[in-house]
Amino acid sequence: MYIPENIVNVLHNLDCETVARKFGINIVKHQAHCFMHEDKHPSLAFKNNCWKCFACDKGGDAISLIKEMFNLSFQESCIT
Ligand SMILES: [Zn+2]
Repeated sequence: MYIPENIVNVLHNLDCETVARKFGINIVKHQAHCFMHEDKHPSLAFKNNCWKCFACDKGGDAISLIKEMFNLSFQESCIT
């Protein structure tokens, strides 16, 4: 399946924090508990449309956030 470049650009520029909230991540002061591992302290940081976990060293844009959260392919993430 082919995702048009303009769609990818829109998704890439989405505010990660808004997207994460939409999918139930509780964000306080741009930080949240990581959804990829047991997280006692908020390791997940949101900044400039990007996200980054300082514990498992994963991060990216809104597309990769959906990808990691739901274990989807890039194409599936785009249409979610
Ligand atoms: Zn993590």
